[in-house]
Amino acid sequence: SEIVLDVDGLSVEYAGAGAPVRACTDVTFQLRRGEILGVVGESGSGKSTLITALTRLQRPPAVTTSGRVVFHPQSGEPGIDLVQLKPRALRALRWTSLSIVLQSAMDALNPVMRLGAQFVDVLRVHDRSMSRAAAWEEARRLLGLVGISADRARSYPHELSGGMRQRATIALALACRPELVVMDEPTTAVDVVMQRQILAQVLRLRREFGFAVVFVTHDLSLLLELADRIAVMYAGRIVELASAGDLYRTPMHPYTRGLRDSFPPLHAPVERLEGIPGTPPDLRALPAGCPFAPRCPAVMDRCREELPLLVSHDGSGPEQGGRSVACHLHDEEVVR
Ligand code: SF4
Ligand code: MG
Repeated sequence: SEIVLDVDGLSVEYAGAGAPVRACTDVTFQLRRGEILGVVGESGSGKSTLITALTRLQRPPAVTTSGRVVFHPQSGEPGIDLVQLKPRALRALRWTSLSIVLQSAMDALNPVMRLGAQFVDVLRVHDRSMSRAAAWEEARRLLGLVGISADRARSYPHELSGGMRQRATIALALACRPELVVMDEPTTAVDVVMQRQILAQVLRLRREFGFAVVFVTHDLSLLLELADRIAVMYAGRIVELASAGDLYRTPMHPYTRGLRDSFPPLHAPVERLEGIPGTPPDLRALPAGCPFAPRCPAVMDRCREELPLLVSHDGSGPEQGGRSVACHLHDEEVVR
């Protein structure tokens, strides 16, 4: 199969006193080999919860209540449901098949170990036949790929700039040639210029290694430059899924339109920053109908009663990269 990740009906709740927080509800998408899928939403939209559920890094009180996350490590091999996987089997997939770069990525580096030695460790744990000398050479090569000079391999993390540490973390995630890299806001801690450099490097590395990426951020403009397809999340659900170009040119969901209009146009001076008035709903007490209804400029009567589901709008399934939206405004156009 050319699908590397098949997420089907994934729901995550935070249990606690009172009603559970429905952080992520019925999330379904497929990721093709080598594809970059961006996931965008405001804080509290469920995007970070989605990442931790995908990678099984979630901790109680977060619980996956339903759904599957099927990972296909190689073309043609049977899939592995990560939701069901034993921790030991999951650890065996880390680095070699599936790598994770989190928001606090800088903490992923060991502060008391030289940078290069950390690469050597990861490389040799996963390929015991690799000699120390060969691993050091590969470490220097990988650092070079993210624009860090070879002599920095002997530095400690605190001797590097934040941007360098971040790039080193991304290079480390790629060291064992995973098929899938999951990134949660990996560039929020660095300045805008450095962000662009890091993303350019991610794209270059993707061309060299061919890995697929799920990239989560609140910054739609970043995804418009980086991603092949974009999933927009609101109140724990995907409300629109489309190619980056379609999403930018013709957003279908009113929330997507609002997000797009919140950002200055690409490569143009800032003329307006519209934003989206209002706040996301309480995830303990979601409204019966469309969760965006209280903020939606196009709200209709039925929106307050009936939840719009994510449906295809060009007749193609998600595996064909089809365009989907969850909004009653587009019900007539649905291809079934
Ligand atoms: Fe707005 Fe109704 Fe569409 Fe929800 S379903 S986004 S309230 S038009
Ligand atoms: Mg987050």
